[in-house]
Parts: sequence; C-alpha cells; structure tokens
Amino acid sequence: MISEGDRVLLIDPRGKRYLVRVRREKFHTDLGIVDLGELIGKPYGTKIESHRGAKFTVLRPSVNDIIAKMKRGPQIVHPKDAGIIITYAGISPGDTVIEAGAGSGALTLFLANAVGPSGLVISYEVRKDFYRIALENVKLAGFSDRVILKNKSIYDGIEEESADHIVLDLPQPENVLPHAVDVLKPGGYFVAYTPCTNQVHRFFRALEEYKEYFMRPKVVEVLLREQEVKRDCMRPKTTMLSHTGYITFLRKL
Ligand code: SAH
Repeated sequence: MISEGDRVLLIDPRGKRYLVRVRREKFHTDLGIVDLGELIGKPYGTKIESHRGAKFTVLRPSVNDIIAKMKRGPQIVHPKDAGIIITYAGISPGDTVIEAGAGSGALTLFLANAVGPSGLVISYEVRKDFYRIALENVKLAGFSDRVILKNKSIYDGIEEESADHIVLDLPQPENVLPHAVDVLKPGGYFVAYTPCTNQVHRFFRALEEYKEYFMRPKVVEVLLREQEVKRDCMRPKTTMLSHTGYITFLRKL
C-alpha cells in the first residue's frame, strides 16, 4: 500500500519517469495535473489520471530509478560495473562493506541495496561538497539506517576494526592497502575501480609488498552491448559506452 510520505515512481504513457513524494498536493506535468493525495492507501501498480486524462502508472522506485533521478557530483559507477563488483566479491545481505570515495553515492546505493537492512556500508568521502550530495542521495533512497558516510580521507586510515569487503573508486587505491590488511576479514574482497591503465600498474607495483595477504588478483573490464529489437531486424545499438574502468579484485587470505 502507498502511504503519505512515500517516494513513488510515476510513469506516463510515453514511458517518462517522475520520482515524487506522496503528499496531499498536486503534481504538474506536461500531460496535465495529477492529484498525489489520491494515491494514499492504493496498491503499487495503480493507475492515476491527470486532469487531461493521461494515465500514469505508479510503481515502487528501484535503486536504479533513484540513481537515474538523483543529483550528481562526480561521474558515477555504471550499473554494469556495480553488478560485477557485487557478484564477483559475493557481497551479500548482512555484510559490512567499507567504501571510498562515496562521490555521488551511486555505488554506495548499489552496495546498500545488496547488503540489505541487516548490512552496513561505511563510506568515506574527502570532499565536503560531494559528501553532502552523497548524504542527500542516501536519504532519498531511504538507506540512512544502513549507510554511514564520513567526510574523511580513507588514505589517513580506516577507523572501523573489521569489514567483510572494501570497495574503492578513487585515484590511488594502493594507499589503502596498508589499512586494508588490518581490517579486511579472511575471504573478504578488496575491490579497486580505476579508469586508467597506469593506475592499475601503479597498484600492482604497490601490491608486491602485500602479496602474502591476498590471493592472485583478477582485473576485468566489462563491455555491455545493448540490442535494438525491431519487427524485422535485431542488431546491436550503433553507439556503445566504450570505456568506464578497470576493476581489480583481491581476495584476502
Ligand atoms: N563511486 C562514486 C563516484 C566516486 S568518484 C559513485 O558511484 O557515485 C571518486 C570520489 O573519490 C570523489 O568524490 C573524490 O572526492 C573521492 N576521493 C578521492 N580521494 C579520496 C580519499 N582519499 N578518501 C575519500 N574519498 C576520496
């Protein structure tokens, strides 16, 4: 059931999405005015008509809907990369994950979604402006109970005593290795997302000193090719996101 104060997704007949909070007020769109108060007490999937007769379907927003609509600071981690991070590292409900930098908070939200209400994501962000954006986005997603954001540099140390996994999207993941070996539980993953090859090389050079703590590293790049399906032709879309980042996985022994 939809309650007052819930955030819902309205989908118009063209497929355009709106993320709105249900209050006893009107919402204006180019297809007419919708009375949000009418939604209170209705089930998800319900349809609501604007004063001009356009039908909007009401859905519970997924984490992807929130990320698509939220405010952004730095470039976010793409779902294809968040997916492989979560599945390769086996990030599961109840896990404690330490993350840095939070940035816009997109990866933070994917991680928070994966660890569930019994898990915890502790995310470090050095820049005050990005920390504020991430904080706002965590609140928007309703994950404030399972995410702790810290306006600190993770290079200065990790304050927590232990973590199931450490996930990094920052320029020098090697600076976190000395802290990670003390904090990461055996079997846990150290994941570093970096856009450039020289960052991977630099990380591997630093890793030589910490080899004994980890299993052999794995580095991947994920290529995702969306398809265009028409009545008489299916083919890959002409343009493709060609590069995001390299993802390095290290498993703690
Ligand atoms: N993964 C994020 C984007 C992160 S962009 C998302 O999906 O939204 C990289 C972030 O790392 C930037 O916000 C930057 O300020 C932060 N950062 C860089 N060095 C850091 C450090 N030492 N500690 C914490 N955050 C750091």
